[in-house]
Amino acid sequence: MPERVQITVAKSAGFCPGVQKAIDKVLGLAKNRHKTIYTLGPLIHNKQVIETLKENNIHSVDSVEEITEKNAILVIRAHGIPPDEEARIRALGLEVVDATCPLVKHVQENIRDHARKGCATIIVGDRDHAEVVGLMGYAGGRGYVVSGPEEVKDLPRFEKANIVAQTTQEGDVFMAAAAAARGIAGELSVSNTICSPTKQRQKETIEFAKDSDLVIVVGGKNSANTARLFQICSRLARKAVHIEREDELKERYFEGAMKVFITAGASTPTWMIEKVLEKARKLAGRKESALLERLAFGWKLIITGSFYTAAAAMSLTYVCMKLEGARVSEKFLMMAGLFAFSLHMANRTVEKGAAVPDRAQKLLFVKYRTASLATAILCGAAALALSAALGWKIFLAAGFLWFAGMMYPYKLPLGLEKFANFPASKDILTALGWTCMCAYAPGLWNSGALTNSTEFAVLFAFLLVFTRSVLFGVSHAHNDMIVGRENFYKAAGSRRAYVTLSAIFILLAAILLMLKGLDWKAGLTAALITGMLYYLGLMLFFFFRKIPERITAETLIDTQFLILALLAYTV
Ligand code: SF4
Repeated sequence: MPERVQITVAKSAGFCPGVQKAIDKVLGLAKNRHKTIYTLGPLIHNKQVIETLKENNIHSVDSVEEITEKNAILVIRAHGIPPDEEARIRALGLEVVDATCPLVKHVQENIRDHARKGCATIIVGDRDHAEVVGLMGYAGGRGYVVSGPEEVKDLPRFEKANIVAQTTQEGDVFMAAAAAARGIAGELSVSNTICSPTKQRQKETIEFAKDSDLVIVVGGKNSANTARLFQICSRLARKAVHIEREDELKERYFEGAMKVFITAGASTPTWMIEKVLEKARKLAGRKESALLERLAFGWKLIITGSFYTAAAAMSLTYVCMKLEGARVSEKFLMMAGLFAFSLHMANRTVEKGAAVPDRAQKLLFVKYRTASLATAILCGAAALALSAALGWKIFLAAGFLWFAGMMYPYKLPLGLEKFANFPASKDILTALGWTCMCAYAPGLWNSGALTNSTEFAVLFAFLLVFTRSVLFGVSHAHNDMIVGRENFYKAAGSRRAYVTLSAIFILLAAILLMLKGLDWKAGLTAALITGMLYYLGLMLFFFFRKIPERITAETLIDTQFLILALLAYTV
């Protein structure tokens, strides 16, 4: 039996915190302000992400003079700019938003403080890189850039000097340059300003590359930190390749390779790394059995085709109807399933369009989008037709929420835009839509008025679906997808989001325990308490950062509704 090829993906691969913060900042601006947003130079060196940003009305300019509109926002990207350049831009009257990475700011301050004490500045980095150009502006006219120790000897002698590194510099190169600088400076201050995410990325890369037959470095060809990673790997591994996309991988790269390591630059999104991993597995002959491969493909279709979402909504409806004491009717299950299917499919289609990389694929995508949106509208119309038979109140509520959900990815009419700009709006809207179809409609139809049972079912559905939506946001953010403040996780921050989810769990568990204590539907409440253990496990799983890739994450999240329905069915 042939030996199995071992493929390892770097833990540090994916957006660095500085890049992630800059992306969050511009997306927040795009969502909340009706102005065109310009970044001074590309926000990150990744074509696919830049395309996605363009779809969000965020464009890159090389100089501020290219901006002709008055009503625009200029964003200083993570690399930063020289202070005099910043002052010049601000004097032009443009609205300026600073997205300089705090770790770059720290280097700028270091240089400025030393320069004020009379030190010359030596920067070990790439002369033309935007970050280095920005740093030079803080050196008070006494800055020098060297690419490594060999260039230090060409510098003049200094009485006092401060040597710093570009934040993505290679550790060994910086230390060697600092050692060489001791010979030309009377007094030398050594500031190792390589940022900690870069140090961690390089440390891991060095550790694995030494032991690998093939290292695949994923990232923009114009990204300096990716190029540096590639240089390190080329020295250490038997073979190293630098690619931007998975289709650049060739079968010949894998000849004789038993240990493959995949790493990536600071501006490479996780979803691209996953595509590379999938392709590498195929080319390395790491084919799972044909049956397993077909099963995985089939499951992907079920998830991306929104069928599992529909099953989750139907399951929640079943649980709510049991809580409400209503006779379980297929009509309600169907209505909720079609409603959730329609919105999930429409939103997923729009989101996919933003990530389609090139023109040829975009043309293909137009056909796919037409078919998907038509299906989504038909299913939504069918759900609304079913709701119309239940009375005008239910029809109006369902119609409003469906319309708002369909329009959500676009510019909303009728003043709904204000709601879309509200933090966590997406999670709240999703929870309201599902609650209306899964709990409110069957409860109202069953009793003709809102009873205590319906009120509890409405609360139960709202909180569970809100949690589902927040966890989806966590998964998307973790997979470096474009997620904005419309998701609670982004708006509130990781800590507050998990505290809120824990509070929701405690509240629901406490109510269920109390109801069981009161002997209210004791069998059902006991079953749901058991089901809530899955909720707890899911939260802990996400909290300890064991967040898997998107399809698995979505499967795990929506499975909670199927488990609850199964448990409710047994009583
Ligand atoms: S590489 Fe480091 S300094 Fe540069 S943006 Fe990322 S975290 Fe900030």
